[in-house]
Amino acid sequence: MIKVFTRVKDLRAVLEKHKSQGDSIGFVPTMGALHEGHESLLKEAVKENKINVLSIFVNPTQFGPNEDFSKYPRTLEEDLKIAARAGITYVFTPSEKDIYPEGYASFITVEGLSDILCGAFRPGHFRGVATVVHRLFQIVKPDRSYFGQKDLQQCLVIQKMVKDLDLPVEIKICTTVREADGLAKSSRNRYLSAEEREKSTVIFRAMKAAKNLYDSGNRSSAEVMAAAKSVLETVADFKPQYVEVRSLPNLVAQENLKGGCAILIAGYLGSTRLIDNLILESSIL
Ligand code: AMP
Repeated sequence: MIKVFTRVKDLRAVLEKHKSQGDSIGFVPTMGALHEGHESLLKEAVKENKINVLSIFVNPTQFGPNEDFSKYPRTLEEDLKIAARAGITYVFTPSEKDIYPEGYASFITVEGLSDILCGAFRPGHFRGVATVVHRLFQIVKPDRSYFGQKDLQQCLVIQKMVKDLDLPVEIKICTTVREADGLAKSSRNRYLSAEEREKSTVIFRAMKAAKNLYDSGNRSSAEVMAAAKSVLETVADFKPQYVEVRSLPNLVAQENLKGGCAILIAGYLGSTRLIDNLILESSIL
């Protein structure tokens, strides 16, 4: 039977016991409203670890003042079913006070990587992400933790934090799970109207156009980006924030592409912000 913990000290106590028995611990941090994307992370964790922890915490510090924190979907009952089905051992659903007790004042900033792309449009977002993930790592002390490539910049921020702070955890990046028409699964897709949902496929089609050009041998960053932009322009309602081809793992712009690189897109369809990316050339992330 899956067990739900809301208190830090209760979860810690049970995990300490597992640690002392030598059980490996897998960890999947989420904000809940689970879908098949999350589910694939859970399954991967269950494959590789004896004990697996899923956290569900809508983290206030990673939302900007005018973002969707208060309307973010909360579907705990359904989430627990999905977690149980995947074989998760423990679910951690802390309150805000558990994670950020009165007077909490310590934050982690991964400089550089946090200020570009999504970070430029969401100031403080990756500071909130790095802080909560570090805090959760300190509670769960996992051997391995699982993240989705869907949020590529987030993966890279976490990897950098783990490297810089020499945290004893292995970061696993799992492939993006998509709808049949290419839209990356996301808890925020439920905000889309039927009409917007149809239009949303433009992001995947744009990334594919870029990838096709790249695969044909074109290494001009500008031309590869232009291929994506010309597809995006066919849907006037999609308002891009950025369309960028960047190197991996540092997300630096290059004129002539060489080595690992990815195309990354973010933008608004109506009031819903969507992000996605496709690896053009893989590297060790
Ligand atoms: P979230 O609940 O949105 O914070 O996401 C929790 C984790 O699930 C993050 O590591 C995400 O990157 C990952 N994730 C979200 N959507 C997908 C997807 N479509 N495919 C794979 N992983 C995903």
